[in-house]
Amino acid sequence: MVNLLEAVIGWVAPPQCISCGVEGTALCAACSTAEIIPYGERCWSCGAASQLGRTCPSCRKSAPRYVWISTSYEDTAKKLINVYKFSGRRVAGSSLAQVMSQTLGDFLTQAELTKLNYLIIPIPTATSRQRQRGFDHGKLLAKFLSRQTGLKTIDALGRLGQTRQLGARRDVRLKQAEGKYYVRLPYLIKGRNILLVDDVVTTGATLRGATKTLRQAGTRRVDALIFAKRL
Ligand SMILES: [Zn+2]
Ligand SMILES: [Zn+2]
Repeated sequence: MVNLLEAVIGWVAPPQCISCGVEGTALCAACSTAEIIPYGERCWSCGAASQLGRTCPSCRKSAPRYVWISTSYEDTAKKLINVYKFSGRRVAGSSLAQVMSQTLGDFLTQAELTKLNYLIIPIPTATSRQRQRGFDHGKLLAKFLSRQTGLKTIDALGRLGQTRQLGARRDVRLKQAEGKYYVRLPYLIKGRNILLVDDVVTTGATLRGATKTLRQAGTRRVDALIFAKRL
């Protein structure tokens, strides 16, 4: 089957493993197992031990109930993200999604997944950064993950503060806009369980902002799946 996603990613040469160089995928199964060290059952925000990756009581404010993280942002994981975002090898997104879907499977049974019937929503990328790269890495990652898991994805969140604010420095503008979102297509997400998706989490401001916006829009439950935690 000719996949639209493959046409969109425009990959020409066969991908090679970023770690050992074997052809086939951006990260081969052996290197993925050996080099992507699971983040484990910890609170995504403070790192404290927390059963099944539930957000711990002290980090709960505006946070998703569960945030499942695949690994730490270092070594091979960091390299894979950089290859995906900055070197134009968009097919690496498929390897990110594969690891993330394994992480999801580590924390939820198939029966739980079926019952939750998540809607995958990507956390919006700042348009200025998107323009630099020529593609929306978050949206594409959500599509790869949707293909891996069979869960539907919709681009339901938009980022506020994208319009040019005269007089403010770029870094100030970015800070002002951080964590401020609006909902598109609210009728599609009302009453649904949401799985927010992103490649990296740093301070969690974007994650909390997106969660708050989704809750205000009447979603039932918000969880998140992130590839790497920047320590
Ligand atoms: Zn390899
Ligand atoms: Zn915590």
